[in-house]
Amino acid sequence: MAGALEGTTAVVTGASSGIGEATARALAGAGARVALLARRRERLDALVGELDGAVVHEVDVTDDDAVARTLEDVARDLGGIDVLVNDAGYGSMVPALEADLAEWHRMVDVNVTGVLATTHAALPHLVRAAQGPRGVADVVTISSVAGRKVASGKVNVYAATKHAVNAFSEALRQELAARHVRVGLVEPGLVRSEMTEGSGAAEDAEASMELGLMEPEDIADAVLYMVTRPRRAAVNEMLVRPTEQVR
Ligand code: NDP
Repeated sequence: MAGALEGTTAVVTGASSGIGEATARALAGAGARVALLARRRERLDALVGELDGAVVHEVDVTDDDAVARTLEDVARDLGGIDVLVNDAGYGSMVPALEADLAEWHRMVDVNVTGVLATTHAALPHLVRAAQGPRGVADVVTISSVAGRKVASGKVNVYAATKHAVNAFSEALRQELAARHVRVGLVEPGLVRSEMTEGSGAAEDAEASMELGLMEPEDIADAVLYMVTRPRRAAVNEMLVRPTEQVR
């Protein structure tokens, strides 16, 4: 894929760790100039030096105004936005009877409101980019298997947020098809990251699956595949599970 994204600009939210960081590396490796967005500045600063032409923006995706300002700055400084990857997310898998309401709000704020704010701010730039030399632009949202099915009771609000972004993404796809903005969802199963290591899900999966969980690079590969198709082809949805994950 080397050079496939030469001359393009990509915005990746959640670029400070896990799937977002791996995706930023993959897009930069294909030649994109990548704007790295997240809250943990020091993590972004550590990554930016490794990626040619990348820039850092410390931003909380739940802050509409800050997101709008950031996307304007990126478009101005890098000459537009060709690819948006909505990766930033938060998961707290706790049975409803034991759950903290603030955690439910946090999932909605990051996983839904954050995706809406970022997409809203990027859309005019993506539509403009699709009229440029590349002739197409891309929005990819990192949803989840939980965006398609509710595999257990404790994924309650997390699954609700991912179902919400799936619905939003499909509506966006229908609206933007004629404008040559491709809209895609990547729906991972279990991936090793701070999210799954913090919750113990990675350890549980390690214990029950001989081949283990996926690595962030497996999902970055899926995103890279989506955004490097010929402009006539749009991969709208990719469900990617560890080989042994059943539900
Ligand atoms: P990580 O915890 O490693 O990454 C989460 C990223 O989101 C971090 O970069 C974090 O950056 C960013 N983030 C969280 N809250 C905010 C915020 N308010 N503003 C800006 N950035 C924020 O987890 P993953 O890599 O696993 O998760 C990435 C995506 O993949 C999420 O959408 C998740 O739901 C999804 N996913 C993950 C799966 C898995 O098994 N790991 C499975 C299916 C989907 P910072 O803290 O610096 O702000």
